[in-house]
Amino acid sequence: MKKYKLSTYNFFKIFEDNIVTCMNLVEKICFCLSKEKYDLLLNHKDNIEHLAKDNPYLVSALYKLGLIIDAHEDETQKIIVQHRKEVYSRRSYRITILPTLNCNFKCWYCYEEHSKAVMDKSVQQSIIKHIKREIAESGVQHIQMDWFGGEPLMCFDDIVYPLSLKVKNICKKEDVFFTNSITTNGALFTSNSIKKIESCENDFISNYAGWE
Ligand code: SF4
Repeated sequence: MKKYKLSTYNFFKIFEDNIVTCMNLVEKICFCLSKEKYDLLLNHKDNIEHLAKDNPYLVSALYKLGLIIDAHEDETQKIIVQHRKEVYSRRSYRITILPTLNCNFKCWYCYEEHSKAVMDKSVQQSIIKHIKREIAESGVQHIQMDWFGGEPLMCFDDIVYPLSLKVKNICKKEDVFFTNSITTNGALFTSNSIKKIESCENDFISNYAGWE
C-alpha cells in the first residue's frame, strides 16, 4: 500500500469557525478547506493511508496540491533542487552599464577618477547585440538594466535614454519583461529628462547617491 505523510511546509490558519486557510510553501499554494476536512486531516496525520481508504477524493486532491506527499519524499532535497534551478536557469539577466565615470559632484568619499570619457557608439551597439543574444540563446525572461557611473544623467540624452528605449523595444518584441534603474545624484534631472523617463512608463527607478 502506498504510504503518505504531511508536508513539513504546511501552514494552517483557522480563518473563521468553519474555514481553514491552508498554505504549502514548497508548492507556493494557498487555498481554503472546511474545518471538518481539516480536522479529518489532522486526526489522520499519522495514518493518512487510512484516510485515503475512507476519503480517496480528499487525499487525492491534497496530494495534488502538495499538502500530502509520499512517505519517502525528501522535501529538503526538493527545495535545494528548486533553489538551484531558480539560480542557474538564468531566467533573469542583469546588466550594469557605466556610460561615463565622470560626475558633476565631487563627493569626499568617491573612489571614481572622473575621467571625461563616455561610452562610444560601438560599445552601445555591442550591448544591444549582447542583450539580443542573451534573449535568443539563453531564453531569459527578464532583462534588468542598471545605470551607474560616475553620474549617468550626464549622458542621459545621448546614451541612457536612447539605449534604454532600444532595449525596452527589443524586450517588448520578444515578450521579455524589462526593468530599468538608475543610480544618480539627481542634480541633473530636468523637466525634459523627467518627461522622457515618464515616456519609459514605470521602467525607471531612481536610487539616489552622492553627498557633495
Ligand atoms: S555623486 Fe557619486 S559618482 Fe559623483 S562624486 Fe558623488 S559618489 Fe562619486
